Amino acid sequence: MNKPSETHLLAERIKKNSAAQMFTDISSRGRYATDASIYQTIPVAVCVPTCADDVTVALQVAKELEIPILPRGGGTSQCGQTTGAALVIDNSKHFRKLLHVDPVEKIAIVEPGMVLDHLNAQLKQHQLWFPVDVSTAGQATIGGMAGNNSCGSRSIAYGNMVHNVAGIDAWLANGQLASFGLMEIAQGEALRLGQFVQQLARRYQSDIQTHWPKVLRRVAGYNLDIFHNQNEKPYTTDSKVNLAHLLVGSEGSLAYFKSLTLNLSPLPQHKTLGVVNFASFHKAMDSAQHIARLGPSAIELVDRTMLDLGRQNPEFRATIETALIDKNAPTPEAILLVEFSGENHQELIAKLKDLVTLMADLGLAGSVVEMTQAQMQKNLWEVRKAGLNIMMSLKGDGKPVSFIEDCAVPLEHLAEYTSALTDVFHKHGTRGTWYAHASVGTLHVRPILDMRKDGTHKMREIAQEAAQLVRKYKGAYSGEHGDGISRGEWIKWQFGENINQAFSQIKNAFDPDCLFNPGKIVNPPKMDEHHLMRFHPKYEVSPLKTALDWSAWNVQNNPMTEAVTAPGTGLDPASGFAKAVEMCNNNGHCRKFDAGTMCPSYRVTRDEQHVTRGRANTLRLALSNQLEGNHLASEAVKEALDLCVGCKGCKRECPTGVDMAKMKIEFLSHYKKEHGLSLRDRLIAYLPQYASFISKRPKLIALLNLRNKFPWLAKLTELLLGISAKRSLPIWQTETAWDSPYYKLGYEDFKIEALAMQRMVVLFADTFNGYFEPDNIDAAADVLEAAGYWVYIPRKEKGQYCCGRTLLSSGLVDEAKIQAKELLDHLSIYAKAGIDIVGLEPSCILSLRDEYLMMGLGEQAELVAKHSFTFEEFIVKEAAKVEFAQTPHVNKFQFKPTDQEILVHGHCHQKAFEVVSPVIEVLKIIPGANPKMIESSCCGMAGSFGYEVEHEKISMEMAELSLLPSIRNSPDAIIVADGTSCRHQIDDGTSRKALHVAKVLQMHLK
Ligand SMILES: Cc1cc2nc3c(=O)[nH]c(=O)nc-3n(C[C@H](O)[C@H](O)[C@H](O)COP(=O)(O)OP(=O)(O)OC[C@H]3O[C@@H](n4cnc5c(N)ncnc54)[C@H](O)[C@@H]3O)c2cc1C
Ligand code: SF4
Ligand code: SF4
Repeated sequence: MNKPSETHLLAERIKKNSAAQMFTDISSRGRYATDASIYQTIPVAVCVPTCADDVTVALQVAKELEIPILPRGGGTSQCGQTTGAALVIDNSKHFRKLLHVDPVEKIAIVEPGMVLDHLNAQLKQHQLWFPVDVSTAGQATIGGMAGNNSCGSRSIAYGNMVHNVAGIDAWLANGQLASFGLMEIAQGEALRLGQFVQQLARRYQSDIQTHWPKVLRRVAGYNLDIFHNQNEKPYTTDSKVNLAHLLVGSEGSLAYFKSLTLNLSPLPQHKTLGVVNFASFHKAMDSAQHIARLGPSAIELVDRTMLDLGRQNPEFRATIETALIDKNAPTPEAILLVEFSGENHQELIAKLKDLVTLMADLGLAGSVVEMTQAQMQKNLWEVRKAGLNIMMSLKGDGKPVSFIEDCAVPLEHLAEYTSALTDVFHKHGTRGTWYAHASVGTLHVRPILDMRKDGTHKMREIAQEAAQLVRKYKGAYSGEHGDGISRGEWIKWQFGENINQAFSQIKNAFDPDCLFNPGKIVNPPKMDEHHLMRFHPKYEVSPLKTALDWSAWNVQNNPMTEAVTAPGTGLDPASGFAKAVEMCNNNGHCRKFDAGTMCPSYRVTRDEQHVTRGRANTLRLALSNQLEGNHLASEAVKEALDLCVGCKGCKRECPTGVDMAKMKIEFLSHYKKEHGLSLRDRLIAYLPQYASFISKRPKLIALLNLRNKFPWLAKLTELLLGISAKRSLPIWQTETAWDSPYYKLGYEDFKIEALAMQRMVVLFADTFNGYFEPDNIDAAADVLEAAGYWVYIPRKEKGQYCCGRTLLSSGLVDEAKIQAKELLDHLSIYAKAGIDIVGLEPSCILSLRDEYLMMGLGEQAELVAKHSFTFEEFIVKEAAKVEFAQTPHVNKFQFKPTDQEILVHGHCHQKAFEVVSPVIEVLKIIPGANPKMIESSCCGMAGSFGYEVEHEKISMEMAELSLLPSIRNSPDAIIVADGTSCRHQIDDGTSRKALHVAKVLQMHLK
């Protein structure tokens, strides 16, 4: 263990001589202590270099201080490769450029931190791709993929990393740079090291011949077989020796990659997919060997447990059902996704027919869903890629654990191997879910184990029995995910004493002082050493009384049936909050930039601190007393959660459902209790309470509205309150939604029983629309009335009802509960009578379906939640009913046609609840309308976030990622945005007025 003084010296010297960011505080180091494995080790320090020169400095200083070095990409390794007491260097933020592409030679040169998906996006214009299509393509970096010798779903066609890397320029342990490529042209240190390893290969040739697994998917140890290829697929097409292949799979333990030269492949022009449904798992496994003979580019397995789990997830259900022969029949025990790809579509369709015939010959006529449409195939592949994550969504301390996850066996033994291993699991009181690469005999399986109890013990026993099976079937123990900690000790078992010795000699030749990622591949620790575990037996959570109700997470599960115990019975001292936080398994899926929302702050900053994973890790460390200050309400946690805009993107898109928006509310409730509220906090939180007072005072309103007109006033409010002078503030109105005489008529004598029989709807006027944009409430009421509804707007004698959103966002949960209770008391009268409640502001109305259910508000909350809808959801729902067309009012529900372009920006909470499509659907009621979604993440305003002076810039950066440019590109379009803050952001960023969908409908009413 390094002394703190050494850590600081290291950081100081690197900072002084480079532009790298250095982190030495415990929370930053804690965020780099884990990867997607079960392990955790706090690093000495973390370095985020801006360029190659920074890395040179970091390596030099670390060497002088004898501090180990651990290169890191996305940190998605499953075996603990990126955990270690070292200087962790994160390439993924800056060190990620595409340096060169040669479309003719089909070569690309990249920096190690480049993410695979980003590379492929840039290669598409050349009709090329880098075909090692790992499931983590959106997060995995090329350096990390090479470090682990990663393999994709299509390895049967393209091979593993080692088959696709043509050269590596790397820093050696002595700080020198060396070029590793074809041995025949190697020079200097690369040649010297290559020749040394060649001698070893000669010396141990008979051992290699005897012990080396002869399968495509062998990624363990160093690639000593490059001189006498043992792989099913030759490493090079012309049998030449390439020394870069020695470094592939070295897990950061031999050299530090500076740039990688990659062989590219032509993008397949066409693909077809046959999804074979099996009523028996054994039959699926037995069929793989026959299907492989048809020459597919992939055969991927998904088993019943995963299909069922996926069907429970709203994001995946519809897609999974496209793969089923009959979605109303019992779920198949397994499906195989069989892909054919190539240049000629007709030939691929013919292959699909061959598959149908083959299955019929194997006794399974009518078992294949034929997919020729590209989008359907793509959707299904996305779900398959999310397979592991779907499985990890199991609540409770028993989790599917990765340690024999990717043993590879020859195809003819697959059925026997899987059933024997299933028996092993049963013997140890657990079971596993099977999925992935049936084409190459590498099936992923994770038995469910509780690492806080007997998990480590069972892990070893199962590993031993699995190893015997692998040996029996002449397979490879590590067939995809590398060695790291969980498989390091099995290298000797797999290759024998002599080859293990040779690996030590290779390590010694490259890295005599053992500074590069020590303990990986050579001299590994035991896989079950307690002190290396993230959840070791002494892991302890401090008691916590939570503000929200987290009991749904406070459960345990049965590893055999996966049934969970009743809410609140999981023995979490933090009332379920710790278990909710621990749902994050560090897979890194939140480090993404593709469609969807998660995680906007990471998309802008690329900081581990500002991604959902970093936040969940910080909370976990705080709750388990592993941070300085040792408690939840600490500054370290505040910093990590500061840029979380509460968009709920993670609630929907995190495969294990980590709901950071709610976690932030929980955190704020503790933090604000301890540290108090600022004046700005109060002004925002209590706005609904004082808004009514202001709205009745026109002179005060005139005065307040001056703030937007005079820059010096804006500056003054910035100085006094911390509200950015660059922002316009919402304009106070003298007429509010509750003043409109139109809606007051007759409601005082309202008798619910009488009205329940009629078409009635409650239009919940939220504070923002009600006071600042009452036109929107009018518009909604007009449209609802045109649709034949009698509209009632809830109001009180004094002030108005409020959902409590501003209080929740400020962490004032107790006060929010009072508001919520009052609102529920009122709304439940209508809900009980079967009357629906409609809201315009997504964050307000959807909190009735979300946060309210975690505030201990009982059955009233459940009832109201069932009857709460966004405006457009309600219209779409009602319009689908037969009676709708029969209403006497329906002739009023007619719209003028339009030919104007309409662009829709979905509010993040609409996206989180999958209620964006009703906006599009409702707009399509207007004749001629062809509304299009803007592919955007969060607008960045997020309630008060974007108004806060310290967040204004980053808020705008979030909007600039795609939302604002898309709007600027369509100068004549009607922009639809249902969120108040989204409309303000669009106005501030483009000077365009976005409209609530209700307003657009009203404008087009005949
Ligand atoms: C849900 C899930 C699905 C997965 N699916 C697949 C899959 O389909 N196929 C597959 O093969 N793997 C898979 N993995 C494992 C993992 O995603 C891959 O191994 C991935 O390629 C790792 O990339 P990374 O950038 O996260 O690397 P990291 O985990 O950051 O690093 C991996 C190794 O490379 C080393 N390294 C990183 N950069 C350098 C450098 N510049 N120089 C030298 N060494 C370096 C590191 O030290 C480490 O040993 C999966 C993991 C998860 C969580
Ligand atoms: S927060 Fe979710 S998506 Fe991100 S690493 Fe954790 S589990 Fe994965
Ligand atoms: S709520 Fe949004 S910003 Fe916060 S962690 Fe989740 S995705 Fe990221």
